[in-house]
Amino acid sequence: MAIPFVDVKAQFTRIKADMDRRIATVMDHCKFILGPEVAELETALASFCGAQHCISVSSGTDALLIVLMAEGIGPGDAVFLPTFTYTATAEVALLLGASPVFVDVDPDTYNIDVKHLKKQIAATRAAGRLRPKAIIAVDLFGLPADFARIGAIAEAEGLVLLDDAAQGFGGAIGNRRIGAVAPYTATSFFPAKPLGCAGDGGAIFCNDADKAALMRSIRFHGVGNDPYDVVRVGLNGRLDTLQAAVLLSKLTIFETELAEREALSQLYDSRLRDHVATPARPKDMHYAWAIYTIRVKNRDGVRKYLTDHGVPTAVYYPKPMHFQAAYQSYGEGAGSCPVAERLSGEVLSLPMHPYIDQATAHFICDKVIEAVGQQD
Ligand SMILES: *Cc1c(COP(=O)(O)O)cnc(C)c1O
Repeated sequence: MAIPFVDVKAQFTRIKADMDRRIATVMDHCKFILGPEVAELETALASFCGAQHCISVSSGTDALLIVLMAEGIGPGDAVFLPTFTYTATAEVALLLGASPVFVDVDPDTYNIDVKHLKKQIAATRAAGRLRPKAIIAVDLFGLPADFARIGAIAEAEGLVLLDDAAQGFGGAIGNRRIGAVAPYTATSFFPAKPLGCAGDGGAIFCNDADKAALMRSIRFHGVGNDPYDVVRVGLNGRLDTLQAAVLLSKLTIFETELAEREALSQLYDSRLRDHVATPARPKDMHYAWAIYTIRVKNRDGVRKYLTDHGVPTAVYYPKPMHFQAAYQSYGEGAGSCPVAERLSGEVLSLPMHPYIDQATAHFICDKVIEAVGQQD
C-alpha cells in the first residue's frame, strides 16, 4: 500500500460521525455565510491559542492580506519577509503595491535571520526610497519564529509585526501558543496544514478590539453597520459556514494530533540524526510539525531512491522568493541570501501526519538511511 505524504482521509475516518452531524446541521439551517458555526469557531480558536480576537477568513493568503490592508500598507512601503517561504508571504505585499524586502534565514532554524533583518531595515532606511513598514515572520515547517527578538526589533523600529503561522498554528513558545506571540497572526486551514478544513480557509488573531472590528469590515467588502453602506475598500474574505463546521470537528482532536506529530518527529530524529541533518529544536520552542524536513547532499539521488521504494517526499522550497520570476526585481540577486540559496538545494521533506504507524515510520527511516548510504 502506498504511503501518503499527508493523510486527510484517515483523519476524516476518525471523526466521521461528529463531522457528518455538524455538516448535516448546516445543510439543515442553510446559513451558509456567517452562520452560527463561524462565531462558534472563532471563539473556540481564540480560546485555544489565548488571543483576544479571532477573525475567520477565506484563506491564509487573505488572512495576511487583510492584516496588511488594516494597517494601510501600500505603495512606497517596505515589507520585510524571509525569502525562504511560500509565495503567499511575498505576494500579499505586492498585491497592495508595497515592496517586499527579502531577508535571509537562519541556517539552523530556517526562520528569518534576525541579524540580516536588522541589516535590511537599516539599508532600506539609508537608501530612503521606501518606508520600512512591516515585518512578516514565518513559522516555517511549524517552528515558531524567534518572536522575542523580532518583536523587540519591530517595537524599536516602529514596524507592524505579523506572524505568518500558516504552518505554525498549534505551535508554542514556552507556554504561549502561536496566535498569541505576535501582535497579528495569520493562519491557513488549507487541507494539508496541521489544522486543515475541507477546502480553503484561514484566520487572523489579534488583541486589539478596534483592529479586529476593522478587519471584520474588510473581510465583508468594507461595509459598516449597514450591509449596503460601504465605508472602506474591502473584499469577499469570509470563511464558509460549512468549513467552520468541519474545523469545529477537527478541533476536537487537534491536541491529540499535535502530540502524535511530535511523537513521529521524535522517532524520525532518533533514527535519522546520525545520517542526515534533522530539524533544530531550539529551547522553549514547540513545533506544530506541519512539515518534517531533513537536509541531504545529493538530494536528487536520495529522492529518486525513496520514490523508487514507495516513500513520497516533497521539496519545500526549491527556489527562494528572490529567485522567483515574479519577484526577482525586488531582490538583490544571487548571493544576497546565501543560506536560503543553499537550503533550497538540500532540503527534503518526509511524510508527516498523525496517521503513520510505527512500522511505516521505521520503514521510512530505513529507506532514508539506505538512500543516504548509497550516495556516499
Ligand atoms: C500555506 C501557506 C500560506 C497560504 O495559505 P493559503 O490558505 O493556501 O492561502 C501562506 N504562507 C505560508 C508560509 C504557507 O505555508
